[in-house]
Order: sequence, then structure tokens, then C-alpha cells
Amino acid sequence: MPVSSDNRHFDVIIIGGGPSGLAASVRLKQLGVSRVLVVERQPQLGGIPVHTAHFGFAIRHLKRLLTGPQYARKLAKAAYDAGVTIATSTTVFNLDPLAKEMTCVSARGHTTYRAEAILMATGCRETTRSALLLPGFRGRGIMSTSEAQQYIHLMHTLPGKRIVVFGSEDVGLSAVHTFGLTRAKVVGMVEEGPRMIGRKVFALGTLVPHRVPLYTRHTIKQILGSRRVEGVEIAAVDGQGNLLPGTERTIACDTLIVSGKFLPENALARSADIPLDSYTHGPVVDQQLQSDIPGIFASGNLLRGVETADVAALEGEWAAASISRYLKDAATFMGPRLKLTPEAPVKWVLPQRLLPGMPLPPPYLSTLRVSEQVSRSRIIVGPEGKIWRSRKYLKLMPERRIRLNLHKWNMGANEDTIEISLAR
Ligand SMILES: Cc1cc2nc3c(=O)[nH]c(=O)nc-3n(C[C@H](O)[C@H](O)[C@H](O)COP(=O)(O)OP(=O)(O)OC[C@H]3O[C@@H](n4cnc5c(N)ncnc54)[C@H](O)[C@@H]3O)c2cc1C
Repeated sequence: MPVSSDNRHFDVIIIGGGPSGLAASVRLKQLGVSRVLVVERQPQLGGIPVHTAHFGFAIRHLKRLLTGPQYARKLAKAAYDAGVTIATSTTVFNLDPLAKEMTCVSARGHTTYRAEAILMATGCRETTRSALLLPGFRGRGIMSTSEAQQYIHLMHTLPGKRIVVFGSEDVGLSAVHTFGLTRAKVVGMVEEGPRMIGRKVFALGTLVPHRVPLYTRHTIKQILGSRRVEGVEIAAVDGQGNLLPGTERTIACDTLIVSGKFLPENALARSADIPLDSYTHGPVVDQQLQSDIPGIFASGNLLRGVETADVAALEGEWAAASISRYLKDAATFMGPRLKLTPEAPVKWVLPQRLLPGMPLPPPYLSTLRVSEQVSRSRIIVGPEGKIWRSRKYLKLMPERRIRLNLHKWNMGANEDTIEISLAR
């Protein structure tokens, strides 16, 4: 739906109409912000949940268990009911973060909008086959889980009949579930790591009933077929990812789903020179979810790759509360910020900055990840030589989020850099 040409100045513009952007838009209206625009490149609002037709959505956000499409419809209705201005089928292709101006393209041509603050909520995407350097021809039949689900649920087309899924995160299990509802057969799931990454309970409901063989410590050595995928050659790998000769086997299939390994959809942020974190690949933000550029905020999966949709929505609401404060008193958002730095094997930490004196987010909105499995360890937070917080963990897993409760940090003043490290 296009926006009328006589109103191109908003209080807040939100780029991305997924759970995070929509939840933020509704909260902004509830907080009395009058002119809010959401720009979404797809014809439908709702982001990924639009085509994720299984249960598992909205629990922490709406306290209900919904399917993806049900959740997307509820979020969209709430935004329309709240009086948010919505522009669907409209892509933001240029952002000037200092002028707070962005240019969009839609069927009506190019339009430039301006705002007092901008929230980027552009989500994330699965790593492509080429980025994973999987060898073989570039025939048809190689796609991400999201693409497969769009074929099935939005276009009502089956992309293939014999499917191999590469990657065992929850999203790979989501692919197994989706194909399990069709005439297609998933003939294997291949995981490079030593164990399945997705949640066991989800695996019990997908791999087990559909009798899908799981090949852990295996990779795809070669995609077979020229015009169309005809099979994959898989091989075992050692702990460093090296192929073990003599372990090859071929699985006949016509479709390869390259699932998971999500990366933030950061092309717009990158082209606008908004500083990005080299570990999360999303914008660097403080606890207000303000980026390093005043008045430019970020929330949802753009911050660090995939999370659950309800966390993305709650982040959107937190960003909305920050933005409403920013609109009233931008000066309080300008002070010097403490830098949080991860020390290996801590892989990344979110937020990456702390603005002293400003509200602290709820515990689920400050997290870290480790790069390898660590047993019986303590997470230590503090500037060099001091401990603001220390907490014991029995096991830390790379694929699981670890909460950092900022409210429990015994923070001092006059520090520049806070280290987040592990110790026995
Ligand atoms: C296969 C799969 C299964 C999942 N299953 C579950 C589940 O069971 N439960 C759960 O809680 N979560 C699940 N998730 C995760 C959940 O979908 C995401 O966490 C959630 O959608 C993130 O919300 P978001 O608003 O940050 O991003 P998104 O939902 O990705 O929304 C971002 C939106 O921004 C738009 N956009 C991007 N760039 C631009 C631009 N330049 N201009 C205009 N618009 C733009 C996109 O079109 C998109 O609609 C699943 C994810 C996948 C892929």
C-alpha cells in the first residue's frame, strides 16, 4: 500500500515489517508517537513467520502458542489497528543516517522519506550455498529453508521430491517438518558437527516420525547433477573439518536445502556506513539499541542472526521505548559509552556498548555466545583487574544463547572497556 505523496516526514520510520518492526511500531503508537511508518519489501507484513506454517511462535510476546502465519496476521492487524502507516511492496535501497532520510522503490517509483529517528529491523538470512563453498554445478534444486517454505506455503508448489537437508539447527528441522507435510521425502540430514544442533524435542517431532537419517560429522563433498541436482556425495570429517578419505557415500536426491548459519541482513546498514560488529555482523548497539549513529536504532535478527520471533518482537518493543525517550530528549543519548569486548572463547556480546545512567534492558535482551563447547566455567565481567559479575556454568554450548543480566552487574564508574571472559 503506497503512502500519500503529501506526507513524507515521520517521527519514526521502521525498515522491515517482521515481528521486530511491527511490535516496535505498535509500542511507539501506544507511547504516543503519532507519525510512524513501516516499510516492508514483501507484499505481506509479518516477515519470516508468514511462510513458517508450524506452531512455536509468540509464546513470550503474546503469551500464546501460534503458528507463524497466525502470528504474522496478529502483528499486522495490531499495527493497522494502532494507526501505523504501512508501505508494503516497497524496498528501502538508500539510507542517509545523518540526515535521517531514506529512499524507497515501489511500483510507483522512487520516494524519499525523512524522520526524526529510524529503526532498522531488516532481519537475517541463511548463508547461501556459494558462501559455504560447497563444490559442484549450479543446477536447479539448491535453496534455503525459507525459499522452500515460500514455494510450499505461498506458491503452493513442491520444489522437489527427494530432499537432503544440510545443517541441523532448528531451522533445518523446520525444513524436515515442512516437507513432512507434503508428498516429498527427506532422505537425509547432514551435520558437520559432532551432534545435532537443534533442540532435541523438535528433533523428536520431526526426524523420528519421518525416519530421516542424521549424518553427524559429515559434510557435502560434491553436489551431483548439472542442470538439476541429482544427488549429493557426502563424506565424514575430522574435528578440524578435514575430509576423511574412503568415507564417501552418495545420496540420490533432487533438492538440497542449505539451512541455517544465519547472517544479519546488513546490506543497507553497511552501505549507509553504520558501524557493524565484526563478530555478530549486525550494527553495534548500546543497551538502548541505538547504533553508533545518534537516532539510528536496530532490533531483531539484524542484530546477530537468528533468534526466536518473540525475542525479536520484545527487542522491537524495547527499541520503541528507547526511541520514544530519544524523541523527547535526544541529548541524553549522546554521552560517552562503555565498550563491552568479548575475550575468546566468548564469541560475541550484545549489546556491545553501555550508556551509563540509561535504563537497563530485561535479561533476555543482553546475551553472549561462545565459539566452542566449554564445561565447568565462570563468566567474568569487568574492566581489567576488577570483577563486576562472575557466574558459574556447568556447560556452555556454542549454539545456545547465554543471558547476561545487566541488572546484577556491580558497575563502577569511569571505565572505558569492560571485558567479558571465561575462567575455570
Ligand atoms: C525456517 C524458520 C523457522 C523458524 N521457526 C521459528 C519458530 O518456530 N518459533 C520462533 O519463535 N521463531 C522461529 N524462527 C525465527 C523467526 O522467524 C525470526 O526470529 C523472526 O522472524 C525475526 O523477526 P525480525 O523482524 O527480526 O526479522 P524478519 O522476520 O526476517 O523480518 C524482517 C523484514 O524486513 C524486510 N526487509 C529487509 N530488508 C528490507 C529493505 N531494505 N526494505 C524493506 N524491507 C526490508 C524483510 O522483507 C522482512 O519482512 C524461524 C525462522 C526460520 C527461517
